[in-house]
Amino acid sequence: MTHTSRKVGIVSLGCPKALVDSEQIITQLRAEGYQISPSYDEADLVVVNTCGFIDDAVAESLDAIGEAIAENGKVIVTGCLGAKGNVVQENHPQVLAVTGPHAYQEVMAEVHKHLPPRHDPHTSLIPHQGIKLTPNHYAYLKISEGCNHRCTFCIIPDLRGDLESRPVGEVLQEAENLVKCGIKELLVISQDTSAYGVDVKYRTGFWGGRPIKTRMTELAVALGEMGVWVRLHYVYPYPHVDEVIPLMAEGKILPYLDIPLQHASPRILKLMKRPGNIDGTLERIRKWREICPNLTLRSTFIVGFPGETEAEFQMLLDFIEEAQLDRVGAFAYSPVDGAQANELPDPVAPEVQQQRLERFMNVQQAISEKKLARKIGTTLQVLIDTVDAEGAVGRSSADAPEIDGRVYIEDVGPGVEAGSIIDVTVTDSDAHDLWARPV
Ligand code: SF4
Repeated sequence: MTHTSRKVGIVSLGCPKALVDSEQIITQLRAEGYQISPSYDEADLVVVNTCGFIDDAVAESLDAIGEAIAENGKVIVTGCLGAKGNVVQENHPQVLAVTGPHAYQEVMAEVHKHLPPRHDPHTSLIPHQGIKLTPNHYAYLKISEGCNHRCTFCIIPDLRGDLESRPVGEVLQEAENLVKCGIKELLVISQDTSAYGVDVKYRTGFWGGRPIKTRMTELAVALGEMGVWVRLHYVYPYPHVDEVIPLMAEGKILPYLDIPLQHASPRILKLMKRPGNIDGTLERIRKWREICPNLTLRSTFIVGFPGETEAEFQMLLDFIEEAQLDRVGAFAYSPVDGAQANELPDPVAPEVQQQRLERFMNVQQAISEKKLARKIGTTLQVLIDTVDAEGAVGRSSADAPEIDGRVYIEDVGPGVEAGSIIDVTVTDSDAHDLWARPV
């Protein structure tokens, strides 16, 4: 007897955290015998995982839902936009169901309702690590959901709720499965990685029979034993962040810290209600670099926040000159629907915001250019992302996928493929990327 499996299409929009949600949904669908359809035509139903963070993302998500309705007709919406009032239903009343982010069980319940499963043991076989949407050699490891902070420009706590840390044993088991399946790099993500475990009072969990606290340092130590690259994202500068720097110096985890600072003026940071304390940050950065000289520091900043004066902006420029951060993302402040910061007085005019953004980026570009030029002639380890006839493209410990730079390598020998780790000598650089040849 043959079964025809039911087919579900998935449209995944938004950030790496949303991608992890999509992976979880796909894994569950496959586990229950559904097939994933690459086209609207063949799908019996489509799940659209949306983003609702900024206005552009809302528009993109609504367009994607509209397209799925037009092309297929049976649509379930999940993700951040689903948690934003009735935006989805008002724009697309035809959708079958709407859930918020991180709600794969609700999504599955809706799928069962509208497309009951036909179990087929052959299609139920899923690989160890679940189904991943990232290339086969790196994976995002989501350690918690939600956030206890209330930054005035952000609505993530409204959309995703307070911090909920995943049990450390479950996170480590997932990491182990990923490594068993050949993953070479784990990217630890959350809204606030350094707060991991605060909600469960750093409860002790178990991994392989060994007691481990639900806490960033302990998690980093355990991940560091798995023999793959481990990269920490969204780490706030709480005092205990100092504990992971020696692990980086010892090569246990990548010497890379993504630490979103957002501004350098204490008054603006207070208006932003940012966690962490900027006082002493320069001194701490100096100490971190003393302990781990090859540390890459990435950060993001907002310019033109409501009330930002020229003097406060200058303070930010002075800070980045002094801090000499390696990787920096900057955004002109833009109001997010529902964010408290929209009520603040003295908005900065858009043209002033743009000028400040340009000035900021010019300063940072010069810093980045100089820092990368210093790498010429040095030897780096590179994880290969793609290989073609012209050579390979990879990343060093200083480059997270998609957001940082790349290393372009000519003449890689046979046997080098995506996921290989090779040593290269840097031959050239610009403000973002490096060029290199195999050692
Ligand atoms: S720390 Fe602030 S910006 Fe980050 S998710 Fe929490 S509230 Fe939003």
